[in-house]
Amino acid sequence: MMNKKVLVLNQDYSPIGVCHVQKAFILVFLDKADIIEQFESLKLRTIEKSFPYPAVIKLSNYKNIPYKGVMLNRFNLFKRDGFSCQYCSSRKDLTLDHVIPKSKGGKTTWENLVTACRRCNARKGHQTPEQVGLKLAQQPYKPTYADFLKEYALQNAIEWLPYLKARTLV
Ligand SMILES: [Zn+2]
Repeated sequence: MMNKKVLVLNQDYSPIGVCHVQKAFILVFLDKADIIEQFESLKLRTIEKSFPYPAVIKLSNYKNIPYKGVMLNRFNLFKRDGFSCQYCSSRKDLTLDHVIPKSKGGKTTWENLVTACRRCNARKGHQTPEQVGLKLAQQPYKPTYADFLKEYALQNAIEWLPYLKARTLV
């Protein structure tokens, strides 16, 4: 099992990336990072020794990194919405819907776009959800990099979760 990924935190604990365990181990070995969390059930072994398997590492020096946003595109929107229609939770025939229709001045932004199935989209037409009696599953929001790592973390690395909580919107 050498395939679990490692969450990399900046010196201020903000998540900045994900790397392979080999790279994490080298950073720790060179004193460029510290292990903050480990996968308890895993060990890295050589013939003579075993080492903790890092789950989360934190850089020793603050790294100035440009803000890592999540690009607004179809796939990322579907992903934010869990690949389900935000009106009826169907997972079939997904399209994008402007909550406030473009014709009524609605913008193409994270806050005004949701995943909708073709049926709901057609039912909604050029109206607002309220006008046709549709209700959004959640208020659409602009996701952060950390939000996107959460999904991976839930399935593969619950050790990361405490470090992905802060939604630092820039
Ligand atoms: Zn629907």
